[in-house]
Amino acid sequence: MTVVNILEKLVSFPVLGGKSNLSILNWIKDYLESYGVVVNLVPNEDGTKASLHCRIGPATDGGVILSGHMDVVPVEGQDWTSDPFELIDKEDGKLYGRGSCDMKGFLACCLAALPDMLKASLKKPIYFAFSYDEEVGCLAAPELAKHIRNHYVEKPKYALIGEPSMMEPIVGQKGIYILETYVNGSAGHSSRIKQEVSAIHEAMRLILWLEAKMDKLIADKRLDDRFHPPHSSIHIGLVNGGIAPNVIADKAHFYWDLRTIPMDDIQSIVAEFDTFCLEREIELRSIFPDFSIKTIENHPPVPHLDTKADDPIVGLIKKISGNSKLDTVSYAAEAGQFANEGFHSAICGPGSIEQAHRADEFISKEQLDMGMKMMYKLIQELSSEAFS
Ligand SMILES: [Zn+2]
Repeated sequence: MTVVNILEKLVSFPVLGGKSNLSILNWIKDYLESYGVVVNLVPNEDGTKASLHCRIGPATDGGVILSGHMDVVPVEGQDWTSDPFELIDKEDGKLYGRGSCDMKGFLACCLAALPDMLKASLKKPIYFAFSYDEEVGCLAAPELAKHIRNHYVEKPKYALIGEPSMMEPIVGQKGIYILETYVNGSAGHSSRIKQEVSAIHEAMRLILWLEAKMDKLIADKRLDDRFHPPHSSIHIGLVNGGIAPNVIADKAHFYWDLRTIPMDDIQSIVAEFDTFCLEREIELRSIFPDFSIKTIENHPPVPHLDTKADDPIVGLIKKISGNSKLDTVSYAAEAGQFANEGFHSAICGPGSIEQAHRADEFISKEQLDMGMKMMYKLIQELSSEAFS
């Protein structure tokens, strides 16, 4: 099958993040098995979803994991001019369809290059690692990366995450953590504001604390110029609480996210916030004994990626992508999770992130070709005795 045929097939599975991915998983599994590849599954608890991984080439230490996700984002409310789950060639050099760019294009390149990988005399193996639920917070990747590390006796060394980067090597990614804070105060007549504890007033104080914390990080020159913006950001995106201007609110809630540069630690910022919350609880319980503040994570933190410019994965990706300009991204990807398992990791894949997640998502045929070229160069590299 050509890369376009495979992409056509992959786009036809409307597998959204958070939903069962067995349809696309089984098609890929059958495809791999038809070439005699041994496929390993890493299912979720109830068996409705699974990641897959496999090894192509010799059972030796080293080699490269090619990582991608099988899920896509929804199309609801988007103004598509064609069926999102049908790959359309409008003869303008682009192939349209949900996931064509993010990131079934890369998966199609991996799968289309499989026959060549099998024919080549690889000295180091290639692994495929395809996950689910990336689009709802990179949920499956930690388990998948760990499974790969534990499953194989001979350990892979590198991980290339094929997120759309216009084939540029991406070595840095901010860590992302999404949290929710609930404040429980006491209701009452607005005139009693000093005798009750308004959940809204307290939530406001917490929000201002978070903003001040961000400003403090900036003032302390905690900056990393590789990122835009160069500082860790703390942002409150949704607030609710209260019922009327003359009623003290007993409940307030806000939703926030934290995007950290590698030098800042997500957990310690949250721990500092928790300490402040505890102080507020102790103080306000003298007015209202049941006063409480609770912060919960909306989903597990996505770790940052901080691969150094002289890391060997960077050299490899420069060589096989033909691009030498390094960049960083502010979107979530699974690279940090592979790095956390000890693999030298970086992002590089066909297509532009600008086309991802929107109506009439597309990948240019040129980018898809470049993705295939990267596969062939990778095969060449891994077939060389000199590769380590
Ligand atoms: Zn993606």
